[in-house]
Amino acid sequence: MPKSDQAAEDLNPHHIARSQFDAALPFVEDLSDWRGMSEWLFDPERVVKLTLPVVMDDGHVQVFRGYRVLHNTARGPGKGGIRFYPTVDEDEVSALATWMTWKCAVVDVPFGGAKGGVECDPLQMSIAEKRRVTRRFISSLGDDIGPYTDIPAPDMNTDAQVMAWIYDTYQMMHRHTINLAVVTGKPLDLGGIPGRTTATAQGLAYVLERILERGEVPGLSRIEGSRVSVQGYGNVGRYSALILHDMGARIVAVADIGGGAANPDGLDLEEVDAHFREAGTTLGTPGTQPLDVKGPLEVECDILVPAALENQITLENVDRVNASVVIEGANGPTTPGADRALVDRGIPVIPDILANAGGVAVSYFEWERNLANKLQVEEDEVNARLRAQMRRATDGVLEVYHRLQDHLPEYRDRWHEAMPDAPPLRAADMRTAAMVTAVGRCWSALAQRGVWP
Ligand code: GLU
Repeated sequence: MPKSDQAAEDLNPHHIARSQFDAALPFVEDLSDWRGMSEWLFDPERVVKLTLPVVMDDGHVQVFRGYRVLHNTARGPGKGGIRFYPTVDEDEVSALATWMTWKCAVVDVPFGGAKGGVECDPLQMSIAEKRRVTRRFISSLGDDIGPYTDIPAPDMNTDAQVMAWIYDTYQMMHRHTINLAVVTGKPLDLGGIPGRTTATAQGLAYVLERILERGEVPGLSRIEGSRVSVQGYGNVGRYSALILHDMGARIVAVADIGGGAANPDGLDLEEVDAHFREAGTTLGTPGTQPLDVKGPLEVECDILVPAALENQITLENVDRVNASVVIEGANGPTTPGADRALVDRGIPVIPDILANAGGVAVSYFEWERNLANKLQVEEDEVNARLRAQMRRATDGVLEVYHRLQDHLPEYRDRWHEAMPDAPPLRAADMRTAAMVTAVGRCWSALAQRGVWP
């Protein structure tokens, strides 16, 4: 890859979200008056930026920045997680909120998109400090979240415990009403639903199973017997490794923020877990080859699961990806340049907005149950519903994908007529097909509702 191309790569996630949106527009059926509509569809409805003073354990006051972006409510209330991470900023949260809108539309849950984040390093914070940051953030958001308006959930470095604090804080501010549905991903004793913790990875496995069954990956027809490499050892990465292993795959590499472990014959996941619990990293698991954080992206495998952060597969390392298919557990792990390079090499990329939508799909089941005050459900039932929903969504995206490929000349002509100076249209990949599905659904909802007043 020429150095100049690498240097030119724009890694701003919100710009990347925009370029993915722009790539889909020429394929959206109803292009009438697309200029105003596309702005309305892309720009966030609301951006909240908060200053959060928190008393730390040693008595000093530390000021944190918190964000909540409500991207779009065309199809329902805002939905999306809250992450705690040192590099959180407005552009990242806006991009993640935008991806939530498309994600909910692709799997057809009646939510819009939202996301939140606090710029902080949870690894350096005590539990009590984390609780105070959470409570201050939620109380400062006030009625910018709510069971019918914008519903948070877990994301990077936030879990069921954080969701319990979110619920409790909101409940303290809204006494005498039932508010379990204000947040999902809660503990089971507090309105949570079995299967939510594993849902993102479980959904990813169902999508992958369906894609392979449908013959979309040359030379690979099943998970059983395949070699899987996973980058990221948080909720999505760890459970993806465990679930795919249970389905008969060999996990050849994993990595977390401190480094990773590889074994071409297959890792012993119990040993990896035991080492991770003790050392805080998978690096150094006995009997494995050491890797750095990005190591799993270059390991020879059949299935590559980037499940860490944005911008992990870039123009800098894409040529070293050695997999038959990439399935995105993280949000935005592949840059647009790397996306094109992979597709040009015949490596399909199953996009985040489909691949990791299992989390929000099960969040919807939890929310629905909380609103109706229903009794607890069984995990098997949750997974059966999730499987059906993910397979349906995958089939929907594949249908669009093949339609866009079969009719490329017509789309090219139409686009050329509308935009004579624009470069010719590239064939649509799976991300574009998923985006066309999502944008088309949101577009249609907005168009039918009309512009207020
Ligand atoms: N944070 C997760 C995601 O990126 C889950 C969102 C939710 O359940 O609302 O999809």
